[in-house]
Amino acid sequence: MNKCTCCQETLDSEEIENPGKDEDGDIICDNCYNEKYCTTCVVCEEYFPLDDWNHFVIIDPENSENEIKTGLYKILEWPFYSSNTIGGDYIFENKVKRLCDHTQDIEESGEVCPECVKKMVGNIKKHEIKNGP
Ligand SMILES: [Zn+2]
Ligand SMILES: [Zn+2]
Repeated sequence: MNKCTCCQETLDSEEIENPGKDEDGDIICDNCYNEKYCTTCVVCEEYFPLDDWNHFVIIDPENSENEIKTGLYKILEWPFYSSNTIGGDYIFENKVKRLCDHTQDIEESGEVCPECVKKMVGNIKKHEIKNGP
């Protein structure tokens, strides 16, 4: 069983040693694992677990109908926008909390990993960052 049960790719030695598994316990390759259970951070472009991503987003409201400011937001309640893309049609301002400007040149709205959140809001108290809504 040296193949991914999902895409049938041959696993590399690292994946064989420490394989990812889907919910049925079937062995899957890193790519499939990331596709299924992770999302990409818009800041560092690394994959991180979906469990962590529903707390923070960068909103860059290019097409937004309201005048919400660009920045890093904590999500208080889902759904917080009324289209298929964050930063799209309408952001419900009472469902997000603005934490700070984002300092890097990010021209996209999207999910932010906890590591980047920490870097961006270093001085915000830990419990505010850690606890979900
Ligand atoms: Zn695969
Ligand atoms: Zn990141």
